[in-house]
Amino acid sequence: MLTVCHLYPDLLNLYGDRGNIIAFVRRCQWRGIPVRVREVGIGEPVDFGAVDFVFLGGGSDREQTLMAEDLLRRKDELQAAIEDGLVMLAICGGYQLLGRYYRTLQGETIPGLGLLDFYTRAGEKRLIGDIAVEAELGGRTVRLVGFENHAGQTFLGNIRPFGRVLAGYGNNGQDGTEGARYKNVFCSYLHGPILPKNTALTDYLIGRALARRGQDGILCPLDDTFEERACAVILRRLRLGR
Ligand code: GLN
Repeated sequence: MLTVCHLYPDLLNLYGDRGNIIAFVRRCQWRGIPVRVREVGIGEPVDFGAVDFVFLGGGSDREQTLMAEDLLRRKDELQAAIEDGLVMLAICGGYQLLGRYYRTLQGETIPGLGLLDFYTRAGEKRLIGDIAVEAELGGRTVRLVGFENHAGQTFLGNIRPFGRVLAGYGNNGQDGTEGARYKNVFCSYLHGPILPKNTALTDYLIGRALARRGQDGILCPLDDTFEERACAVILRRLRLGR
């Protein structure tokens, strides 16, 4: 049984972020892997040690401020689980909060958990549009597509990016990096949502979660015709596909 933890589903759910939970769950179920979802809101208890996959979505600056304090209280427990190999996906606003801080355009600083070495500051120009990145998953290079919409520009310190921007802005529109990766934590600006369209990533996360529980993590293939078509549309739009 895999346990999925959806953090702050009522506050952080921009551009269909919930679709990430649906894709993760369905791709488990289609293969007969038992899975359950726990939604955790502000003040609600969760034992990260007993969870297999944590999803933290995107939100506006206002929503980020509302849940940042609650997330800070969970820092030690989350950190221990991450060090133990917890599989986690954090998108946009959720991604920003795992770093050192997020400075808004008004100059307000929202403290992050400081679990990962990066910071984010809002820029005048929003970084909006379709995006394609290249990332390495288990020794395989894959192309991922999504939609980004953020004012925050993220600058990485001593941490590797999740991927390399092929088209779009990514972390900051300047250095060609997208997202961040540490152990089994994957951070990205790709909304869309990212998991339904990018099945290689979804399956990689499921495989990592199973492997952490001592299973072989090898998944039987599914028919991804529709998902591949959805990717192809975005790649063509970005002049990257046939
Ligand atoms: N508030 C953040 C920004 O604009 C996050 C936005 C988001 O999650 N889409 O950078």
